[in-house]
Amino acid sequence: MTDFTMQRDAEGVATITWDVPGKSMNVLSLDGAAELDGLLDDALADPAVKAIVITSGKADFAAGMDLNVLARMKEGGAQAVLDGVMSLHRLLRKIERAGMDPRTLKGGKPIAAALPGTALGIGLELPLACHRIFAADNPKARIGLPEIMVGIFPGAGGTTRLVRKMGAMAAAPLLLEGKLNEPAKAKAAGVIDEVVADPLAAAREWVLQASDADLVKPWDARGYKMPGGAPYHPAGFMTFVGASAMVMGRTMGVYPAARALLSAVYEGAQVDFDTALRIEARWFTNVLMNPSSGNMIRSLFISKEALEKGANRPDVPDEKVRKVGILGAGMMGAGIAHVSAQAGIEVVLIDATQEAADRGKAHSAGLLDKGIARRKLTEEKKAEVLARIHATTDYAALEGCDLIVEAVFEDPGVKAEVTARAEAVIPAEAIFATNTSTLPISDLARASARPGQFIGIHFFSPVDRMNLVEIIRGKQTGERAVAKALDFVRQIRKTPIVVNDARFFYANRCIIPYINEGIRMVGEGVNPTLIENAAKMMGMPLGPLQLVDETSIDLAVKIAKATRAAMGDAYPDTAVDAVIFGLADQGRMGRKAKAGFYDYDEAGKRGALWSGIGQQWPRADDQPELTEVQHRLMFVQALEAVRALEQGVLTDIREGDVGAILGWGFAPWTGGPFGWLDMLGAEQAVRIAEGLAARHGERFAPPALLRQMADRGDSFYGRFGGAQKAA
Ligand code: NAD
Repeated sequence: MTDFTMQRDAEGVATITWDVPGKSMNVLSLDGAAELDGLLDDALADPAVKAIVITSGKADFAAGMDLNVLARMKEGGAQAVLDGVMSLHRLLRKIERAGMDPRTLKGGKPIAAALPGTALGIGLELPLACHRIFAADNPKARIGLPEIMVGIFPGAGGTTRLVRKMGAMAAAPLLLEGKLNEPAKAKAAGVIDEVVADPLAAAREWVLQASDADLVKPWDARGYKMPGGAPYHPAGFMTFVGASAMVMGRTMGVYPAARALLSAVYEGAQVDFDTALRIEARWFTNVLMNPSSGNMIRSLFISKEALEKGANRPDVPDEKVRKVGILGAGMMGAGIAHVSAQAGIEVVLIDATQEAADRGKAHSAGLLDKGIARRKLTEEKKAEVLARIHATTDYAALEGCDLIVEAVFEDPGVKAEVTARAEAVIPAEAIFATNTSTLPISDLARASARPGQFIGIHFFSPVDRMNLVEIIRGKQTGERAVAKALDFVRQIRKTPIVVNDARFFYANRCIIPYINEGIRMVGEGVNPTLIENAAKMMGMPLGPLQLVDETSIDLAVKIAKATRAAMGDAYPDTAVDAVIFGLADQGRMGRKAKAGFYDYDEAGKRGALWSGIGQQWPRADDQPELTEVQHRLMFVQALEAVRALEQGVLTDIREGDVGAILGWGFAPWTGGPFGWLDMLGAEQAVRIAEGLAARHGERFAPPALLRQMADRGDSFYGRFGGAQKAA
């Protein structure tokens, strides 16, 4: 079984076909690279071979490097990584030079890439080394270098080649944002050369007539000048100054990959091509050896994929959803209806009035129209999706639904009533899910005649954009319900985590303390700019005050009141309430009121922090150190995640990490709270937490589990990691 095969034809074209056995997408492994290398040597040495085409035996070209391989390479240490990367460089350089005489640049064999579909990461770096790239006219295909999204950057020459091909300015969005394009756009941008109906035929035709000059890359030709100017050219200078500021502004310096990429580009632009490749390889090694990239690859790729494939799915037969009934066509219900219909599931969307149900369906129409405007969708597809949504007030329409998702008002009475009404109609084996964000699943299950088939499926807002779905087992929830929920989430292509029932489940349990800590500091007189910047400089996408403005102050007030009622004297957040109730009293309800912790203009655009904060909660003379503020904001989340694990709400730290990043944006560069605590080490984490507890209160007291780990020298992934679940 081999990943690459080669056929030679009568006209002297050797076609190398990439087709990894047993996988739907090609990914490159080190063995695969060695195979390709061997085939190339054969083809270049064979006098009967005049030209070479590299293509794929699958619908797509390739998804990139096998990230599992990258993770293993890292275990061998920095030298092993550098050696591995340099061997890839040698392979791609061999393609690029194609046996030509290095002095005369003549006598090489033309090599073209024929891409039937998507080409990502090394799946594009390899074509970039070829002499011409032909892609199929396939608007579903994506072409690009998304490495930055998992904390690395294109390290197999993609960075150096793209910058030399397009110039630093044009390459920046592709490299720094990992922007993917459909083939036509990739061609317009200058990433690939041709978009054709039959790339293999076009590539064959081209290689057979290519001349020596066609084989020489601009950077190997005499007098090459980088498009847009090298760093010390006046135009180039402006590009690099701007790019550096942009990267720092966007990443706050916490993403090592973005900085390293920029350094590789800047340093590489000042030297010859082969030296630039070595510089790229060294920076790549530097980034891969940084714990951040390993944690990001683990959570954002390996664990995320494992969870999506059902790592924690009970072993019961297929529970794919055919017809879903959604109760409540408000913001959440409408969103859930939309993503379900898009996934090909029949939807019955119920609300108390026909008008409300229709409004819910119209939400879907609106989103589909946006897709059409962005040319991602056709009118036929829109009609197809909308035809699947049956908006009604009639519960009888729920007949035949195998899943119900309830998203009516957050009121146990209303929820109990709709549960009974739906259960009167749906099949006996149907599963009933609630989208509640605050009410315990086990309590709501009391309204159900079949508590074993009752479960929480908690979506995040906006449903069409947020990829995490939290599945909550109630005390009596059975395995079939969990499997159904997981199969549903898989159908709608989101990422699931499965947690046990406890106040605020997992995500909200951790995010609320983050928001509260920020608000508490406002009450203490900490400069609010310091609070917000401290959070962002730790890599949180939004500061706590901006976040609560987004989700709204009245929701915070509502949650505070309900929590206080439930906890009584043990309620710990009175100091927080003083601030938010104060804001609410003045009608500063957040973004939607165009007034909150921030000021907003008439159009709702966020401006500066509200100057009234300083008057109502006077600035303390002694301002804390930046690190102290950062520790408070990060530990308050991470310790809560540890408690969730300790208490059995979380049973798999991979879910804790993936859920934190996708659910509330926990500093992605860390790979999640458990990844972050492992970076710090349990011992240091305990020391910091103890200091915070002494200065700020018991909420920072290290949980027993963390102390025990510090004593034993354990790490979270060492103890609970991999596929094995927490005990
Ligand atoms: P919403 O007020 O926008 O929608 C609720 C809908 O339920 C309304 O259209 C209402 O007319 C309908 N409804 C009320 N009683 C009904 C009945 N008896 N029969 C049929 N329909 C009825 O609220 P939402 O923000 O969509 O939230 C719905 C649920 O989702 C709540 O449980 C909420 O806690 C949860 N949730 C909300 C968010 C969020 O960010 N808004 C996130 C996760 C979960």
